[in-house]
Amino acid sequence: MTHLTRRLLVATHNKGKAREYAEILGDLGIAWLTLDEAGVSDDVAETEDTFRGNAVLKATAYAQQTGLLTLADDSGLEVDALGGRPGVLSARYGGPGTTAVDRYQLLLAELAGVPTERRTARFHCVAALAAPDGALLGTADGVCEGVIALGPSGDGGFGYDPVFYLPQYGLTMAQLDAAEKNRISHRGRAAAAIAPQLHRALAGR
Ligand code: IMP
Repeated sequence: MTHLTRRLLVATHNKGKAREYAEILGDLGIAWLTLDEAGVSDDVAETEDTFRGNAVLKATAYAQQTGLLTLADDSGLEVDALGGRPGVLSARYGGPGTTAVDRYQLLLAELAGVPTERRTARFHCVAALAAPDGALLGTADGVCEGVIALGPSGDGGFGYDPVFYLPQYGLTMAQLDAAEKNRISHRGRAAAAIAPQLHRALAGR
């Protein structure tokens, strides 16, 4: 592959997420682009009902649109006592106009009276990699198991992190520092799991 093709589109508008992927995947000697940096303004709607479906949809569509090797993901929180909800609807839980705090408060309200041993949950991420022509190269899963706390703690991270308690640390995800979160998070694990496919694609194999 020539120097000029060593570019990877991380299909997000969020520079923080793209940086997270770059940190997790290490120095690949490539340029990392967000959707904005690649000049993409039309978002692909997450219309599928699985993380994998949405990740594949985004990776293949953005690759076709830009002609770039593209990494996309979809993630969310699966709560066992709620039959896996909010799941793919994690960002939209509670309807339009809600904040992250509204969403985790709604979750706590839905779980009122549910004892700790039945508050098990996991963050789940599926990453998908598509070739510059839009062909799907692969997908990888990452999960991070935890328990929904009785109330929020910590001010790091985002989304549901303040109520996602990690028994092995005795802390919520919002109380971990960023490097530690990357090491154990669903996104960190999905990124690590897709790394071999990314290396192959960059090597032109
Ligand atoms: P997306 O995959 O970045 O679109 O994330 C979907 C939604 O899942 C987010 O808006 C959050 O509500 C939730 N979510 C995903 N990853 C995390 C995380 O690491 N911490 C907290 N919430 C998350």
